[in-house]
Amino acid sequence: MTAKIIDGNEIAKRVRAEWKHRVDALQARGVQPGLAVVIVGDNPASQVYVRHKTKACADMGIHSEKHEFPADAPEQKVLDTIARLNANPAIHGILVQLPLPAHFESRRLLEAIAVEKDVDGFNLYNVGALVAGDTVFPPCTPFGVQCMLEYSNIPISGQNVVVVGASNIVGKPMAMMLMKKDATVCITHIKTRDLAQFTILADILVVAVGKPNVITAPMVKTGAVVIDVGINRLPDGRLVGDVDFEAVREKASYITPVPGGVGPMTVTMLLVNTIQSAERFAAIQMPAASKVAAAAG
Ligand code: NAP
Repeated sequence: MTAKIIDGNEIAKRVRAEWKHRVDALQARGVQPGLAVVIVGDNPASQVYVRHKTKACADMGIHSEKHEFPADAPEQKVLDTIARLNANPAIHGILVQLPLPAHFESRRLLEAIAVEKDVDGFNLYNVGALVAGDTVFPPCTPFGVQCMLEYSNIPISGQNVVVVGASNIVGKPMAMMLMKKDATVCITHIKTRDLAQFTILADILVVAVGKPNVITAPMVKTGAVVIDVGINRLPDGRLVGDVDFEAVREKASYITPVPGGVGPMTVTMLLVNTIQSAERFAAIQMPAASKVAAAAG
């Protein structure tokens, strides 16, 4: 069996085209979705991610602005900026690019973002809402994975899902989201004994560890769907995931490549969350009479 490739670029393009109509509809009503990115320090990877996000916003007609601080900036100065962005009606989404320099308390900054503008979904209220099954903004990377599965018509309900890696950003929210879709979910982590005894049971295997070749072909059930979230730069400069792609693709039914798999979906879901936020703000601001007129027309 050779797996079908789940093309993240292609699905991202389709999702963006669908949501572009919603940006156009908002703009017709005088609302431009707005995203603010707060970045502290000069982590080169973070600078690249922020550039991608800014370009993706521009392509979709979303206003974006970058608030940059040096690594030694006082935390209070960043908190003051977040407070101003919370109060700015032109901004519908705020994200703090992680990781932050060591002397910053990430939690304090993430908690400072207004729940209704927390488009990354990392605020504790949003995390709790995800657990309770009433998500405000699904975290972008697991949301992107769920979207890839749905666009590929891969059933989730009743499937055995194994998530490898238990981070707050990917593994844990991923498990919650797929459990909400009625999958039977197992989360594994660094202390898991004999990882293969779990992964071999997976109908859908999601891997988010950050180590090349954590998953090899003998660890994968024949016909499994394999989603590789990992991004690793090899010494020769190549970018690879966490899965031994060439060997596993001969055993899986579907597989995501790296690059060109989950990566493009993460930025896309950030756009989706920002547009959705702008729609919620517009619905609140629109007086009842004009809501009726809009519904009629
Ligand atoms: P992270 O915070 O470092 O978490 C990695 C998780 O994997 C931790 O729970 C860790 O356990 C666990 N782990 C480490 N070695 C393991 C092993 N041998 N077996 C099972 N679990 C193991 O990383 P992350 O933020 O979740 O990101 C994971 C990977 O995804 C990275 O390569 C990152 O670059 C990539 N990523 C990609 C996207 C995208 O858009 N494609 C988005 C986000 C992240 P401990 O905490 O106990 O060590």
